[in-house]
Amino acid sequence: MESTLGKDNTNQFEREYFTKYPKQNNVDSIRDHKYTLSESSNSWICTCGFPNIVFSSVCGRCGISKEWFFQTVNVDILIQRLKEHQESERIRLENIRFQEDERKRIVQENAENDRIRLEEDAIK
Ligand SMILES: [Zn+2]
Repeated sequence: MESTLGKDNTNQFEREYFTKYPKQNNVDSIRDHKYTLSESSNSWICTCGFPNIVFSSVCGRCGISKEWFFQTVNVDILIQRLKEHQESERIRLENIRFQEDERKRIVQENAENDRIRLEEDAIK
């Protein structure tokens, strides 16, 4: 089954999924996610590919919530959440850059102060 979400939304779905179900991160069987919503009158197919009877609210194999799954595999929601993710990533990287610049500035300032001190000592 091919993903119907596209690459960015698939990545975003994975972020959502592993945030909500961190323990699933190491479970190989559900690594190959199925992203196609599939519900018939008597079953629904989980992201792990497991077919569940329609009235079961959690997947019999991986335990994810049917309600959560059907809400999350929603392109509009994923696009919105992807934007939020990109914005927080942008801020995070900006902070890292700022800290790195600040660190360099302090190192340079200390080196300059040391140089001045050495010069002053030499004059004495
Ligand atoms: Zn499942």
